[in-house]
Amino acid sequence: MKFVSTNKNTPSVTSLEAMKRGLAPDGGLYMPESVPVLNAHFWKSLHRFDFTEIAFRMAQPYLQSELSEQALQSVVNDAFDFPLNLKGLKNGHHILELFHGPTLAFKDFGARFMARLFSESADIDQADVTILVATSGDTGSAVARGFYKVPGVRVCLLYPKGKVSPLQEKQMATLGENITALEVDGVFDDCQSLVKEAFVDDELNQKLRLSSANSINIARLLPQSFYYAFAIAELQRKGINNVAFSIPSGNFGNLTGGLLAKKMGLPVTKFIAATNVNDAVPQFLRGAGFTPKASVQTISNAMDVGNPSNFARMLYLYEESENALRDEIEGFSYSDSQTIETIRNVFEKEHYLLCPHTAVGYRASSEFRKIDQATSAALVTLATAHPVKFRDVIEKELEIEIPIPESLKDDLQREKKSILMGSSYEEFRSFLIGY
Ligand SMILES: *Cc1c(COP(=O)(O)O)cnc(C)c1O
Repeated sequence: MKFVSTNKNTPSVTSLEAMKRGLAPDGGLYMPESVPVLNAHFWKSLHRFDFTEIAFRMAQPYLQSELSEQALQSVVNDAFDFPLNLKGLKNGHHILELFHGPTLAFKDFGARFMARLFSESADIDQADVTILVATSGDTGSAVARGFYKVPGVRVCLLYPKGKVSPLQEKQMATLGENITALEVDGVFDDCQSLVKEAFVDDELNQKLRLSSANSINIARLLPQSFYYAFAIAELQRKGINNVAFSIPSGNFGNLTGGLLAKKMGLPVTKFIAATNVNDAVPQFLRGAGFTPKASVQTISNAMDVGNPSNFARMLYLYEESENALRDEIEGFSYSDSQTIETIRNVFEKEHYLLCPHTAVGYRASSEFRKIDQATSAALVTLATAHPVKFRDVIEKELEIEIPIPESLKDDLQREKKSILMGSSYEEFRSFLIGY
């Protein structure tokens, strides 16, 4: 299968090439030239398959010309060796728990799939690849864990100083070996700009083979379509076929994964884009133009993105029709105090603890339910992180204690090994050249 750039200004490449490059040379994001549609029978009989079978079948059309069936099967089995589940709450709400991987956030799906694809694709170790990744927290830890000790791959991750949680920092900045963490004196958007600038720096790219593991990498995006089908499979088992998904969003990779699944044939009634006050996309969906802004810091910090890069992909999937996109997705945004209120309400009424990101998604589901006259769809909110990752803020606001799982206790003991850096490109560039 061929992949093209959303900027449409560079030749198409194979899926593995798109994955190794990350960003396309024209600065666009790679997308499949045409989205493969799986047959209707498959979508109707999802209930017969478990998650890894669904993942294999959905990945196959993208990768079958480059990877043997056996290799793809082992990528899928190794990447997704942790559970996921759909939990029913009251009033037709469901929570798709995507946080049972090693770093307790949904980003383990994308990062682990990508890392295993890298180790399966043979020519990687002939020339070392340097993966650059800008992170607002969860990407960094998932990528660091996913690629730790993968031969032929070095990972350099950039995170904003003082703007990730202590646990996130421990999970990404303590590994060493092939993982280097740069603590940037700036915000997430500065980190993202540094990485983007490096990718279009021709001279640098002649010296280093750069790749990206941000959600701009197509290898991270693809697996983020699989679990939407898993949720539908679970609901089919209950006789439910009319489903809306609410996605707590920052860079919109997760939501784009859902749109991709729908284009492949997955029956989805509606998508709900849920953000914190970084609301460029909800504003757009309500009819304004798309206006990126500087990011604002919130308690759902993995969604503090002012200029979501996957917006270009969302438009691409709808043939650049802004109105088609507005028909498909409903957008809502919430303040930190509304987020806390939702965590408290759901905890009191349902004894279920949401992380701040998931709370934004849940609240958007509830609001959609109120305004939705037309669909009466069952609601699935993607739970993007385990609440324990944000225990500081939750414990303080709710005056409860959240027990720490054993695996996290180990993470918290480790010593930070990051390198402090300013936010100028020159400084970053000379670091990379000497790296
Ligand atoms: C990354 C992240 C998000 C946002 O996902 P996008 O794909 O960037 O929209 C939401 N919640 C958590 C916990 C995350 O780590």
